Amino acid sequence: MASGAQVNRKQRRARDRALKKQRSKADFEEKLGLFEKLEDECLSCQKPFDKKDKKMVTTWNVVVREKENKVNLYCPDCWSIATKVIKDFQQGKQND
Ligand SMILES: [Zn+2]
Repeated sequence: MASGAQVNRKQRRARDRALKKQRSKADFEEKLGLFEKLEDECLSCQKPFDKKDKKMVTTWNVVVREKENKVNLYCPDCWSIATKVIKDFQQGKQND
């Protein structure tokens, strides 16, 4: 019956939606867990980091090392130095 098939499709869609919801919640909790692992200082220069400071949260750089289950935190100064070093290194490689 056509109406029966429609109900099934609806149920399936509802189930898919529920699964998706569950998954994104798990993702969120995972990220939150990592956020709690955040250091309270720059990994490189030990400048203090305030998680409650919105400006800091948006300007500091977080590098998630999922394999090591670690979160590395860099202040903007150290981050710009680090990216410069990487850039120089890549350019040096190209010049070889
Ligand atoms: Zn730093």
